[in-house]
Amino acid sequence: MASVDPRTPSSPKTYEIAVLPGDGIGVDVMAACLRVLQAYEASRDGEVCFQLVECAAGAGEYLRSGSALPEETVDTCARADAVLLGAMGLPEVRLPDGKELTPQIDLREQFELYAGLRPTYLYHQDDSPLREYAVGEIDFVIVRESTEGLFSARLSAAVEDDQEVRDVMRITRQGSERLFRAAFDLARTRRRKVTLVDKANVLPSMVFLRQIFDEVAQSYPDVETERVYVDAAALFLVQRPGDFDVMVTENMFGDILSDLASGLIGGMGMAPSADIGDRCAVFQPAHGTAPDIAGKGIANPVGMILSVAMMLDWLPGTDGHTIRDAVAAALANPENRTPDMKGTLSTEHMTDAILNQL
Ligand code: ATP
Repeated sequence: MASVDPRTPSSPKTYEIAVLPGDGIGVDVMAACLRVLQAYEASRDGEVCFQLVECAAGAGEYLRSGSALPEETVDTCARADAVLLGAMGLPEVRLPDGKELTPQIDLREQFELYAGLRPTYLYHQDDSPLREYAVGEIDFVIVRESTEGLFSARLSAAVEDDQEVRDVMRITRQGSERLFRAAFDLARTRRRKVTLVDKANVLPSMVFLRQIFDEVAQSYPDVETERVYVDAAALFLVQRPGDFDVMVTENMFGDILSDLASGLIGGMGMAPSADIGDRCAVFQPAHGTAPDIAGKGIANPVGMILSVAMMLDWLPGTDGHTIRDAVAAALANPENRTPDMKGTLSTEHMTDAILNQL
């Protein structure tokens, strides 16, 4: 019987990653994060291999081909093990009805990426406008519903005449149950507390959302729960962000509160995100295309790099902690900052500083 030489290297675990740089600073931060991903791959000594497939999407692609999300790109994303997305949309490129192109939202809806995870972690005391918080004392995750809520009104032809327009808040039982299960499961890996953010004192849709939250919570007796109205949540995020662990909310509330949350830790450039479904996931920074700094080479790459770390956590057999540690070590030196955080480094040099720690 042929014996297997234990020294024979086994073939690497190969992951196909769809890469959608998009528009504006999406292109810059994608280039930065791919350098980090390749360094991670090298550090795993042949155990893991990433096959990157670059795909066209975004406002630039719409101008070129007439589609912001070509079918070929959707097919590649469907086939891939994970999707990395930079940022998409440009204010000057609009649909006939005046709205901006948002192919990243189309992707979330098409692939049912219902749990939008937005971790907020303070890497350096000086980066927060709330100076009393030390490293790690702000550490919570917003779980933003990403397939329905108030955003579901975006595709309806709301304008019937010039007298009235309606945007409908769509909350479904199925969408809410899967969202809350994701939030409670996440809390079990953290400090076991979930805060529901709603507006159940005013809107019937939010009364329904809270009722489903209470039902799902019964299956998680080991997880502490609280319920906070969205306006109060904005206040408490500024007054006592250290009290939150997992916050779960509908789409639009999550959109707004996650920008506020990024302001607590240094700004939009510091905020990663992951849009997770049952079969697919898209990893992208929480920021947009930042047209005001596009093309200048000064975008902060940290949010995108931390999104790669989230992808590695999500893929079996890989782990984002070495990347998070490298980001933490780089940010421990106050000189390692891009201009949005009162530093002087370019995107490339900030990426070098992180790579030096990897
Ligand atoms: P969207 O609605 O598409 O999410 P937005 O309107 O929230 O986008 P962003 O593109 O996120 O806007 O930009 C908001 C502000 O934050 C801008 O001043 C921009 O320059 C800044 N900003 C966003 N991301 C970064 C980054 N990675 N580095 C530096 N500054 C950034």
